[in-house]
Amino acid sequence: VGLVPGAGGTQRLPRLTGVPFAAAMIAEGRVIGAPEAHRAGILDLLADDPLTAALDVPLGEPPVIPPPEDSEAVRKEARRRLPGQTAPLRAIDLVEAAARLPLAEGLALERVAYLEAKGSEQAAALSHIHRAERAAQAPRADLPAPAPVATAIVVGGGTMGAGIAYALAGVGVHVTTVETGDDAVARARANIGSLYAEAVKRGKATQDAADQAMAGRHAFRAGYDGLPPADIAIEAAFEDMAVKHTIFAALDRALPETAILATNTSYLDVNAIFQGLRNPGRLLGLHFFAPAHVMKLVEVIRAQATSPATLATALGLATRLGKIAVQAGVCDGFIGNRILTRYRQTTDILLIEGATPAGVDAAMEGFGMAMGPYAVQDLSGLDIAFANRRRKGLRDRPGIRYVPIADRMVEDLKRLGRKTGAGWHDYDGPARRPAPVVEALVAACSAEAGITRRVIAPDEIRDQALLAMIEEGLHILEEGIARRPADIDVVLVNGYGFPRWRGGPMWQADVLGLEAVLGRLTALAARDPLSWRVPPLLVRLIVGGGTLGSLN
Ligand code: NAD
Repeated sequence: VGLVPGAGGTQRLPRLTGVPFAAAMIAEGRVIGAPEAHRAGILDLLADDPLTAALDVPLGEPPVIPPPEDSEAVRKEARRRLPGQTAPLRAIDLVEAAARLPLAEGLALERVAYLEAKGSEQAAALSHIHRAERAAQAPRADLPAPAPVATAIVVGGGTMGAGIAYALAGVGVHVTTVETGDDAVARARANIGSLYAEAVKRGKATQDAADQAMAGRHAFRAGYDGLPPADIAIEAAFEDMAVKHTIFAALDRALPETAILATNTSYLDVNAIFQGLRNPGRLLGLHFFAPAHVMKLVEVIRAQATSPATLATALGLATRLGKIAVQAGVCDGFIGNRILTRYRQTTDILLIEGATPAGVDAAMEGFGMAMGPYAVQDLSGLDIAFANRRRKGLRDRPGIRYVPIADRMVEDLKRLGRKTGAGWHDYDGPARRPAPVVEALVAACSAEAGITRRVIAPDEIRDQALLAMIEEGLHILEEGIARRPADIDVVLVNGYGFPRWRGGPMWQADVLGLEAVLGRLTALAARDPLSWRVPPLLVRLIVGGGTLGSLN
């Protein structure tokens, strides 16, 4: 939450454990068990009857501080785990100071640092997102108790389905993965098997436990004949309406009408997917993120008819999986992908007006995004978004400003991202370089659109990208897609690499000040009314003297 210890921890702990251990424990916020604390010198002894045993512990001399040691490795790890955050690094400085300074001086130094951190923007943002996550995970007083889930069906054992099946089995659910044929079943089995192999390799499971889970909690089926009953079925097959219709019709026939049916669709209309099924109260979306067994975020999509009981059970299951579940309504892209789409449209407009993919990525990474938007597309593949734009017929839709650069990347240059070795950037192993052929394409698109390219500074890129996310978030709130601004922040921080220490876009709107946001959006909308729209909710909030925080 952006703080350093304020009651002497940075000075006393290293006196017991040495600098590197204390630095790592504090900077990473590690929670350790008693045996490790004993080994590290934090505890004097472990006993079954601590009260009696403690009477026999002699009060020794105060510990002698071990000689200073290098904690550079700990710093590196803190930068990797908590990128952009200042408090962990400050805490490591303080722990190192403990090796140089008398206790009283070290404590005074820590006090100053603590008060500084406490008043910082980072601490406010980090506390906000921490509270927002806790609120998202708290039991819902407005919903009935969740029903238990002991058995599940996962349709599709590809990237997402395998991760979902693995996660479910990890909390003791018996999972049947359904695929189209025997070959596909074999692939699904291999996909799930490789997740167990990975866990064994990382020391997270023993080979025995992995074998037992694979044999005891996973079953596989080609088709729906003789499907065992299940409390829930989660569909993660191809992103195609006809495929989804066929699957849900089959599930509707094969399972009792009480089984919850969920789709993991990224963009398709959840209500349309469920058209014509029995007992619509048990239908909803469960939008996991890739890799599904790792990513904490799940969007729980409330469809037109989803009942409170179904919603409660889905939220309960997500919590049991260790996820942070955010409820969202039905719209194109729900909360996260809708804002992502808007963010990408905005940076595409900046491209055609004068920016470059390398410049945009550097600017957004400078803002603190885990990766720039073009580097992300290179990783996930340009063809998926391309197909999505096609499906929606965006190119010919009136009333929007359509930038064709991303389409031309796929159609003319056939650069689909890292899987084809090249995308918005050139790649040399993991290192990326600006791609001259892409910059030429971007310039050609500007010329074709009759735009005179101008130099766009990193600050303008960051400003517009953030304002686009804020504007879209406000529309999402206004339409009731998200229940509160903090939920939008939770989604962006946990699913899209938005810097945690900036608290999320809606938090940033309050930091900037709503009147300032209104001023900027009004100016942008005057210049480019097809791309920018002043959200009525923003005006109402300002008139009423409210903030986005007040809506939480
Ligand atoms: P994938 O291509 O890796 O896997 C799809 C699997 O579904 C394949 O194994 C395929 O054999 C199987 N399948 C296809 N039709 C089937 C049918 N009729 N019955 C049973 N199985 C069938 O795709 P994916 O990336 O896992 O995506 C699956 C779904 O999850 C899509 O709707 C996608 O939009 C959504 N999604 C994907 C991601 C992601 O990052 N990959 C993230 C969130 C949601």
